[in-house]
Amino acid sequence: MTDIQLTESQQAAIRALMRDEGVIPPPLHLARNAVLRNDQVERDRALRDPDGFWREQAAGVEWMTPFSEVSRIEPPEHQWFTGGKLNASANCLDRHVHGGRRNTAALIWIGEDGEEHTYTYARLYREVNRFANALKRLGVGKGDRVVVYMPLVPEGIITMLACARLGAIHSVVYAGMGTQALRSRIEDSGARIVVCSDYTFRRGKSIPLKPTVDESVRDSAQVEWVVVHRRGSRPGDEPVSFESEREVDFYDIQEAGEIHCEPEPMDAEDPLFILYTSGTTGRPKGVVHATGGYMVGVTYLARAFYQIGDQDIYWSTSDIGWIVGHSFIVYGPLSIGATVLVREGVPDYPSADVTWELCERFGVNVMFTAPTAVRMWMSHGPDAPGRYDLSRLRLVACAGEPLNPEAHRWAQRNLVGQSDGMVVDNWWQTEIAGPVLGTLPTFEARPGKVGKPMPGVVADVVSKDGEPLPAGQGGLLVLRRPLPYMLRTVWGDHARYLKYWEQLPGMYTAGDIAVRDNDGYFAVLGRADDVMNVAGHRIGTADVEGSLVRHPSVGEAAVIGLPDPVKGERIKAFVVLRKGVEAGPGLVASLKDHVRQDLGPIAQPSEIEVRESLPKTRSGKIVRRYLKAIELGEDPGDLSTLAD
Ligand code: AMP
Repeated sequence: MTDIQLTESQQAAIRALMRDEGVIPPPLHLARNAVLRNDQVERDRALRDPDGFWREQAAGVEWMTPFSEVSRIEPPEHQWFTGGKLNASANCLDRHVHGGRRNTAALIWIGEDGEEHTYTYARLYREVNRFANALKRLGVGKGDRVVVYMPLVPEGIITMLACARLGAIHSVVYAGMGTQALRSRIEDSGARIVVCSDYTFRRGKSIPLKPTVDESVRDSAQVEWVVVHRRGSRPGDEPVSFESEREVDFYDIQEAGEIHCEPEPMDAEDPLFILYTSGTTGRPKGVVHATGGYMVGVTYLARAFYQIGDQDIYWSTSDIGWIVGHSFIVYGPLSIGATVLVREGVPDYPSADVTWELCERFGVNVMFTAPTAVRMWMSHGPDAPGRYDLSRLRLVACAGEPLNPEAHRWAQRNLVGQSDGMVVDNWWQTEIAGPVLGTLPTFEARPGKVGKPMPGVVADVVSKDGEPLPAGQGGLLVLRRPLPYMLRTVWGDHARYLKYWEQLPGMYTAGDIAVRDNDGYFAVLGRADDVMNVAGHRIGTADVEGSLVRHPSVGEAAVIGLPDPVKGERIKAFVVLRKGVEAGPGLVASLKDHVRQDLGPIAQPSEIEVRESLPKTRSGKIVRRYLKAIELGEDPGDLSTLAD
């Protein structure tokens, strides 16, 4: 018996997974052209000679100074490509501009209203260089942090690459996050510069972003400059005004004549970016990725996992605010010289057909999306994709949350059916910036299971004490060896980084529950900790609880994730009001609105229940597991530790 407490639904899921019904064989044409044609040989080789394996992958990146050593590994510490120097922006731009792809489209940007702009590699190079010089004039240099609060616009990508060019560390904050979330990230990173857009557009509406930035930096002596990318207001929008002398316009600070900014030679281990994610405490966790290992990882995986070629049109429906956007909108595909389609807005507006219309129009070859999006498309029926020519779409990769078998099969039939292509699942996280477990087009997909470890990955499922568990038993997902594209530290809090490796000595604990089948396929069942996954986004219960108790009416709060047919999970909150506060009409709405302002719409609970008390242990810890079991109508298990 495993000692990890699995819910009844997780146990049922494992029983179903072990029955293994309806596998999907890899299409011959994909298997034949796959980059890792013989994945098992690669896996064995990477196990025997990891340094040799990664040395080979490092050749996919252009080095300014060659590295002297592939790896120095003493978990929890690990260094890669020591002595090597490189620049991520030079890898994404200069080598293509000088190497015959200068007139190839790097980005095709599409607005929700159909506005369209194409950036060739040459144009993107110029824009990045100009903006890098502009940042330099504002005093930005190597090692400085720059917070980016921009939607999926070319200027956001330009800002990231300009920072990388200067060796500045960007920290992109998803432009749907609220004031408190943004403020805490600016403060934690110690950024002196914030680059933002004035508006984003979603479902035909203009959503102002600048007021959130204004509010977040109002009393900040730390922030010296706010660079505003003004998009021009639409009818009815308030034109954004500059509130103080520290605000400057994105385009005003650039000089048209400048087309070159020398890329800073960065040590392989120098940080490339910080990306904040939710942990189990309310404090944001600044995951730090190192330039060399990250670039080697995402360059290799763009080809070897996603099968993106430099002739391909590749579309990821993610956003630069998430790790998927960093690795597989920006750095991975641009490093290999692909053409990346980026679209601002939601995938079913202005019509349920818009995604397929664009796939047909641009001849999209590879798509990266989330299970939530697939389930949303499913809810519109199979006719929409069937009305379009998707014969070039050969691979659809899904990540971010479990891909349920129904959604997997639906996508296989309706999205890649025309091309005899393949839908592949892949597992990774902010901390590990590219696929770790996944299905390659060289072996069969087993819906409900992510797939097998990528070459170089040593993954296992273990008990609470770190004992390996046999097939069919759920346990903790761990990695036994670091990867080059894995975090090096948590910004400003190395002790918090060490926790990943200390929960089980010598292993990296991912925080997920997983199970393996008899053939070594892994299935990831959900989080093992107090983190929820709403529409593929990680949200800490502690973040939402922290926000609720900041509301003047709330004394205590407990938050749980409940199953949702489209989003995977939805948020339910339980609150105990402060003494003397009446649960009048409008209270719940005001609490929801408060969380929305504070953390952003994705963290807003769909349901809030006012209670007299919350179930707690004798030591006073809220037992969310109990609340969840009751909500799901399941057995809450051992209650002997409850206070009453
Ligand atoms: P994030 O760091 O926000 O990208 O979230 C990472 C978390 O999302 C992982 O720890 C998993 O809980 C979940 N996740 C990501 N990809 C998958 C997948 N393919 N299957 C199941 N869960 C996934």
